[in-house]
Amino acid sequence: MLIVQKYGGTSVGSVERIKAVAKRIAKTASDRSVIVVVSAMGKTTDALVKLANEISPDPCRREMDMLLSTGEQVTIALMSMALQELGVPAISLTGAQVGIVTEAEHSRARILHIQTERIEEHLQLGEVIVVAGFQGISQTRHQEITTLGRGGSDTSAVALAAALQAERCEIYTDVPGILTTDPRIVPEAQLMSKISCDEMLELASLGAKVLHPRAVEIARNYGMPLVVLSSWSDAPGTRIVSAIPKRPALQDLELTKSVDAIEYDTNQAGISMLRVPDRPGVAAKLFSGIAVQNIDVDLIIQSIHESDTNDIAFTVRKDCWKQAAAVADAILPALGKNSDPSLGEPEVQTEERTIAKVSLVGAGMIGRPRVATKMFETLAAVGVNIVMISTSEVKVSCVIDTEDCEKAVNSLCQTFAVDVADISSSFAAPEPEEVLSPVRGVALDLKQARLAVRQVPDRSGMAAKIFGLLAQQNISIDMIIQSQRCHSVDGVLTRDIAFTVSQAEGETAYQTLADAALEFGWGKVVLENAIAKVSVVGSGMISHPGVAAQMFEALAASQINILMIATSEIKISCVVEEENGVKALQVIHKAFGLSGNEVFKVPA
Ligand code: ADP
Ligand code: ASP
Ligand code: MG
Repeated sequence: MLIVQKYGGTSVGSVERIKAVAKRIAKTASDRSVIVVVSAMGKTTDALVKLANEISPDPCRREMDMLLSTGEQVTIALMSMALQELGVPAISLTGAQVGIVTEAEHSRARILHIQTERIEEHLQLGEVIVVAGFQGISQTRHQEITTLGRGGSDTSAVALAAALQAERCEIYTDVPGILTTDPRIVPEAQLMSKISCDEMLELASLGAKVLHPRAVEIARNYGMPLVVLSSWSDAPGTRIVSAIPKRPALQDLELTKSVDAIEYDTNQAGISMLRVPDRPGVAAKLFSGIAVQNIDVDLIIQSIHESDTNDIAFTVRKDCWKQAAAVADAILPALGKNSDPSLGEPEVQTEERTIAKVSLVGAGMIGRPRVATKMFETLAAVGVNIVMISTSEVKVSCVIDTEDCEKAVNSLCQTFAVDVADISSSFAAPEPEEVLSPVRGVALDLKQARLAVRQVPDRSGMAAKIFGLLAQQNISIDMIIQSQRCHSVDGVLTRDIAFTVSQAEGETAYQTLADAALEFGWGKVVLENAIAKVSVVGSGMISHPGVAAQMFEALAASQINILMIATSEIKISCVVEEENGVKALQVIHKAFGLSGNEVFKVPA
C-alpha cells in the first residue's frame, strides 16, 4: 500500500516544522510505503524571485528555473536527514533523479511521464523517498531543469501518485482543507468535507491558490483520491471527489485530451439591455426581477462600459423568453435617462433571436488557451459567427444562430474527435446525493488585468484571430465579452472585445494585440491593471434561479460598481475596481450564508 504526501512551504518553513513533519511521516511509514513531496521552505521561492529581479526585471526563463529549483532541494535534504534521525530509512531525490520528465517549456512545463524504476527500487528497500516538488527534467538532448509553474508541487505529488497507482494523495498545508474562501481574507470561512473536481478546478483557476489547478486535473483524469488537510492536526480535511475517471495512459500524462465531449442546447433565447447606466445596482435590479419570476438564467455578460453606459446580455430557456423580456422592459423606466443624451437611452432588444449554445466539455481549458482558440477557428472555418462566448476550466461555450448549430456541432466533433450530447431538454442537473448550497466557494483574484480591443469588425473569424495570437504565446484568457452594441466605422459594423488575463501576461498580450490592431485596422487596445475578479462557484447553481441576482445585490448593497460580468455553467465572475476587491469577496461570502462561527487563523 502506497501513499503520496505533499507538504507545502509553511509546513516545512523552519527546522522545527521539518522535524514535526518528519514525525508524522514516520508514523505513516510504520505500516506502508510513503513518497513525500516537499516545497521550498517558507517564502524561499519568493525570496529567490526577488533576488533575480534585483539583477534583471525580466530574467531568462531557463536561468529562473535553475534558480527556483534550488529551493526545494534544500528541503528534501533536510527532511531526509530528519527522517534518518528518527531511525526511518529515507533518501532525497530531485525531480530529475526520480524521473519526472517534462516538456522543454521553462517556468510552466507540463509533465510528460514519470520513469518509475528508480523510485520502485527504493520502495523495495523500504525507504521513504523525499522528492523535490515543482521541478522536472526535459527530454531534450541537454536534459534541462524545468519547473511546473508557481504552486506546482501539488502537481508533482498527484502526478507521482497517478504514475505509481498510489492508494491516495494527501496534500498537507497551513489550512484545515478547502474552505468556502481564503481564510486570510474571511476568517469565518468554513471547511468543506468534500468538493467535486469540477468545482475545485473552477475555484483554483479563479484564484483559490490552495491547490494548483493542474493537480486537480490529474486527479480527475486518473481517478486519484485526493485530500487536502492540515499539517498541524489530525482532522480529516477535504476530499476532492471525481466523477467517472478517464484513466488515460500514463504516457503524455499532462497532455491528455482536455475535451471530453461537445454539447449543444437549442432551447435558448437571448435578451440584451443596451445603454444602461453604469452605476451600482442595475444588474441587481434586473436579475432579482427575473429571479422573483423563478426564471433560470443561463449565460450573463456585461460588457465594458462606453462612456458611462453598459450593455447586459443574457440567455434563458425559450419558454421563459417573454416573461424575462417583460421584466427587462418593466425596469427600463426606473433606470432614468442617461446623463449624456448623445449616448441614447436605455433599451431592451426585443427581437426574438433564435440562438443555440455549443460547448466543449472537459477540464483544464483555461490552462490550455489553444483549446478555446481551436474552437473559434473551427467555427470560423465553417463561417459561423459567434454571438456570445463563455469560458471556464471545465467548459467553453459559444452562443450562435440556431441555423448554424448543426454544422458547428459536426465540425467541432471532428476537430476534437469526440462525441456529441444534446442537452436541450435536460432542464435540471441530476439530483445531488445531499442538499448542498448552490454556491460552494468564493474566490478573489487581484492579479488579473483587463484588455479591450475596440472596433473589431463584426464577422466570423475575429475571435479566432485575436485569441489565436494570444494562444501562440500560451496566454490564458477568461471572461471574453463582445459588446452587444455595434458601431459603424467606415461602413463596417464593429464591436468591442474585452477579456481578462493574468497581470504577469498583460503587457505581452497588449503588445501582441496592439501590433495586430495596427495591421488589421482595429481600434485602440486598452490595458487596465487596477481590477479585481471575484467569482462564486457551485454545481448547484445550474438548477437554482437567483444565484446571480444574490451576488449582484450583495455588491449593490455595498455600493460596489460591477465593471464586467461573465458566467459559465457553475461559476459567475464579476470584475470590480481593484480597491473594492476584498470588500466584494467579503460581502458576497456573507450574502450566501457561507460564514460560520468558527474562526480560522492561518499560521504565519
Ligand atoms: P502550500 O505552501 O501548503 O502549498 P499555499 O499557500 O499554496 O500553501 O495554499 C494554502 C493557502 O491557500 C492558505 O493559506 C490560504 O490563504 C489560501 N487559500 C485561498 N483560497 C482558499 C480556500 N478556498 N480554502 C483554503 N485555503 C485557501
Ligand atoms: N515552491 C514553489 C512555489 O512557491 C512550488 C510550490 O510550493 O508548490 O511556487
Ligand atoms: Mg501551494
